Amino acid sequence: MISLQEARVLIQANVQTAVAQTAPLNEVLGRVLREDARATEDMPAFDRSAMDGYALGLEDNSPRFRVVGEIQPGAAAAFRVGQGECARIFTGAQIPEGASQVLMQEHTRVEGNFIVPLQRNRFTNIRRRGEDARRGALLLKAGTRLGAGELALLASLGVTQPRVAPACRVAHFVTGNELVDPAREPAPGQIRDSNSTLVAALVLAFGGAVTRQERVADDFDLLLKKGGEAEASFDLLLMSGGASVGEYDFGKRLLTTLSFQIHFEKVNLRPGKPLIFATRDHQAVFILPGNPVSHFVTLHVAVRLALERFAGAQASWPLVKVRLTEAFDWRPDARETYWPARAALEQGELVARALHWQSSGDVAGLAGANAFLQFNGGVESPKAGKIVNALLLELP
Ligand code: AMP
Ligand code: MG
Repeated sequence: MISLQEARVLIQANVQTAVAQTAPLNEVLGRVLREDARATEDMPAFDRSAMDGYALGLEDNSPRFRVVGEIQPGAAAAFRVGQGECARIFTGAQIPEGASQVLMQEHTRVEGNFIVPLQRNRFTNIRRRGEDARRGALLLKAGTRLGAGELALLASLGVTQPRVAPACRVAHFVTGNELVDPAREPAPGQIRDSNSTLVAALVLAFGGAVTRQERVADDFDLLLKKGGEAEASFDLLLMSGGASVGEYDFGKRLLTTLSFQIHFEKVNLRPGKPLIFATRDHQAVFILPGNPVSHFVTLHVAVRLALERFAGAQASWPLVKVRLTEAFDWRPDARETYWPARAALEQGELVARALHWQSSGDVAGLAGANAFLQFNGGVESPKAGKIVNALLLELP
């Protein structure tokens, strides 16, 4: 059995990064940029006023200044100001030749065609050409995930068709004779399928797209048929259930029959030990243990990495120290444990409390989970106040 760390190395080594494609800027929120973005000109491209006021010489101590023209944002500054002269100017407008300061209009008095400074200081109130970035400067690196700020920067650079990673096409099969559609009333012995909803939500959050999702009975031939049908239509196949060693756990046999190469089939992880990872050319497969909590954990610590690798993104692993606000009975276990928790900021400090988790089928303990408490084997149950490791799933 391998460690999670080793499993993650195998995922990174065996998932292929997708060929980048161009896409319209307004369709790439959350995607991964696959080219460097550089300044195509100095930023700003010309000296600009940072204030509404009057542009004049910083060293010009004339008692009053004649207003020789007006420059609005968007207009070229087509004249120069000399000694004893100034230009009426507005925020964002180009600084005219001869001017080296913008006097705020609040610091002036207007007398006909002249202004009289009420106070002077050394602030130029000018945003200098190239002060943010020089032409050619690296502004965004390939591998950056595009949020609103990055999109705005690309727009300002004129990059309207950026090269980005395509969304990973994820096919998902849920196995289990006991499962029914969540809209249905389960008959005795049946349960509602919650993993389809969980997988769809997390794959979307991790930047993938579920292109096919089906519930399939625990029937090897049927699974094989479905797997064959899906064939070329996915980049990543997820199968819920069937990873274990029970009589109806067909996962491994299925992968072998479909000529996938299995890289690991058990990880020293709680929950989520029976986790299978395999690849065939550019396609990857995970068979996830069916328990919803195992699902939640393995999707975060393993599947997410595969999606990041596919997209060419940096692997995210935000492990931080948190203070426990409550003691909890963590049931010591030799496996590396990821315990669903709720992290919060308390007066600027990151704190967390373990969520209720009796068995790995306990879906109620997932509501509110935004972190995992991480433990490496047999320590005693932590007391309130103890500092422990936490993997953040989102920022609290
Ligand atoms: P398995 O990995 O198939 O042995 O499933 C382990 C446990 O998780 C069993 O109690 C299943 O009933 C439960 N389970 C499996 N798949 C789902 C699902 N899609 N939704 C909810 N519970 C499930
Ligand atoms: Mg099952």
